[in-house]
Amino acid sequence: MLHYRKQFITQISAGRVRFGADARYALADEIAALGCQRALILSTASQSSVAEDIIRLCGAAAAGRFSGAVMHTPVEISERATDYAKKINADILVAVGGGSTIGLSKAIALRTGLPQIVLPVTYAGSEATAILGQTENGIKSTLTSPLVKPAVIIYDINLAATLPLKVAIPSAMNALAHAAEGLYARDNSPLSSLMAVEGLRAFRKALPRVVEDPEDADARGEALYGAWLCGSVLGQVGMALHHKLCHTLGGSFNLPHAETHSVILPHAIHYNAAAVPERLTPVSEIFANASPGIALYDFAKKMAAPLALRDLGLQASDLDRAVEIALAKPYWNPRPVERKPLREMLQAAWLGERPGG
Ligand code: NAD
Repeated sequence: MLHYRKQFITQISAGRVRFGADARYALADEIAALGCQRALILSTASQSSVAEDIIRLCGAAAAGRFSGAVMHTPVEISERATDYAKKINADILVAVGGGSTIGLSKAIALRTGLPQIVLPVTYAGSEATAILGQTENGIKSTLTSPLVKPAVIIYDINLAATLPLKVAIPSAMNALAHAAEGLYARDNSPLSSLMAVEGLRAFRKALPRVVEDPEDADARGEALYGAWLCGSVLGQVGMALHHKLCHTLGGSFNLPHAETHSVILPHAIHYNAAAVPERLTPVSEIFANASPGIALYDFAKKMAAPLALRDLGLQASDLDRAVEIALAKPYWNPRPVERKPLREMLQAAWLGERPGG
């Protein structure tokens, strides 16, 4: 299948990417190449030992650390970290971790204009976008700015090797969501579709091998390659219903980000499939089911990925409010988002049912 379009607009700035086993050892060179000398190293609290390793690799350029990144990028933490970056006169941000740490880095970059080098260890894909999602007063909002796009991405397969499966699997589902929604995005281009299809293929091939043998470095590498591709899709095109629902559930009900993507993805794709069947054909082909939503559900189930919102802590009584919030400021979507089918869809996702009953 060709990804030819009769008409399209695309604007790509891939940024600098260094990919490979032990790529992190080039960190000091990458900092110097940007003309920087005072790095602030960012991580979550649970990743502070990995941050230690990164501090060592920065050498004389390590100026300070902030290990307080948390999920959904709360504004108050970003402000605290920004104050610290100013206090130590940081001239570059180095983030090691998943989307939460990269989110914090982006939030500081937005407020200071500092360049960023990011070392992703999950498959969430934030590193490849100029998008920042942040949470304030229980509402998650996103903005796009060239200021938040990392200057350099270092994908080190060995750094990602410590990722536990309970983080790796949902984060792979998060990446698949970028690619699947990218296929029908309004501003989709031949290039974004090519990247989406290659990203879906990479995960289809690599994730079962990662699950079977988490030590399999080749499989980890292919999954990380998929993450780059899927993240790059998110960085190029606008997302639709699936991402809107995940932001609503994450920002307003504090549900875990990647796990929520895992649960919602098959249902959102099933909802949209009737409107854009040809755009979703690659999903059906790659995951081997005529229904792309069911194909993704069955794949998620085989990977033991989260399937039910009730398992993530959402109460049945929250579903009506989730529908209201999702309808309040809707994203563009290929199928009109209507209250009744949306409520039914969320009910099925809450129960963990296969889409379509
Ligand atoms: P995460 O960054 O929240 O990481 C999940 C947990 O796993 C954290 O506690 C982390 O410390 C831990 N962890 C990560 N790597 C580990 C490792 N190697 N070993 C042990 N523990 C490890 O998860 P995520 O799914 O990568 O990111 C989610 C966040 O990213 C959300 O806030 C989401 O909004 C954001 N995001 C943003 C974009 C964007 O383009 N702006 C894209 C995707 C995700």
